[in-house]
Amino acid sequence: MKTFSAEHRMRRERHTMEVMVKMYCQEVHHSREKLCAECQELWQYAMTRLDKCPLRADKPTCLKCPIHCYKPERREQMRHVMRYSGPRMLKKYPLLAILHLLDGWYSKCKK
Ligand SMILES: [Zn+2]
Repeated sequence: MKTFSAEHRMRRERHTMEVMVKMYCQEVHHSREKLCAECQELWQYAMTRLDKCPLRADKPTCLKCPIHCYKPERREQMRHVMRYSGPRMLKKYPLLAILHLLDGWYSKCKK
């Protein structure tokens, strides 16, 4: 299915993470259009990791990834963001949230 091709999943993961970090920063750090320095850094870090991901095409969503390429403190930071934004995203962007869940599921059952 094209929606779940590797390319589409990668692009969606990027987008999902962007939405989550933005939501967290705006509501928790009260930032406006731009991310605060801290979140900007986390976002850059996440994108670099994604670009360098050795599993790339075949990779599950980052939180379920077996590689754990994040540094421990970054992972902790990202977990905070996900824990905050995850449930809120389900309400605000149900389609994106559901697709994100399906992405994790699809990449697992392909093997
Ligand atoms: Zn922030």
